Amino acid sequence: LIRLDQVTKRFGANTVLDHLDFSVQSGKHVTLIGPSGSGKTTILRLLMTLTEPDEGTITVDGEPLFPAPEKQVREVRKKIGMVFQQFNLFPNMSVLRNITEAPVQVLGMSKDEAEARARELLELVGLTDKCDAKPTRLSGGQQQRVAIARALAMRPKVLLLDEVTSALDPELVAGVLDLLRDIARSTDITMLCVTHEMGFARDISDQVLMFDGGRIIESGPPEQIFGDPEQDRTREFLGAVL
Ligand code: ATP
Repeated sequence: LIRLDQVTKRFGANTVLDHLDFSVQSGKHVTLIGPSGSGKTTILRLLMTLTEPDEGTITVDGEPLFPAPEKQVREVRKKIGMVFQQFNLFPNMSVLRNITEAPVQVLGMSKDEAEARARELLELVGLTDKCDAKPTRLSGGQQQRVAIARALAMRPKVLLLDEVTSALDPELVAGVLDLLRDIARSTDITMLCVTHEMGFARDISDQVLMFDGGRIIESGPPEQIFGDPEQDRTREFLGAVL
């Protein structure tokens, strides 16, 4: 479903991704781990077409992204939902409207249908009673649940999760991770997660990619990466975060 071939990204003299290759099959859950600055977020931003690679090719669902006609980029973006560390909700819109806005504006869904779908999603994320609230009145954990519902409202094939619990108070982290575990278990959505939550990564991942210096230095199923890593660098990283 997702494929990166020899992708290189530089910011000035800083090579953030260095001839990177990897692919993600439909329905799989892949977790990106590794030290800060190793390029993980940049991959999600490339897939969202928020930034462009300097070299290499990226394809999503068989469609090349760079270069691609604007219309094709829009089509690819419809297939991808992203949840950010900082929620990024629309502050002036109600919770319900945050969720219905893109399906109505981008997919051309009727308002009634979008609202019915939004209410289902609010039930899934446990916030049925907050549909008329403004995001600023919600806790960080609740805001992140709304952001997850908003991403799912577009019925994306791929969900990109960028350290979605990093900005949360510690007592709110478990609830959001449990919700994501549920979504991983009960849907066929493809997930690509950047996370520092190793227990979560172990639970949901089909494959874990360990990044360092813009390269994948090791990859494998979670039992291998967390249980018996091959690389000293991976062992050292896990020793520091676990
Ligand atoms: P973290 O876990 O801290 O989010 P990361 O592995 O996700 O780290 P990236 O956010 O992908 O790392 O950043 C990789 C490198 O690219 C960092 O050195 C960062 O400073 C640099 N970088 C990212 N975005 C930009 C930008 N817009 N301009 C310049 N440098 C950037």
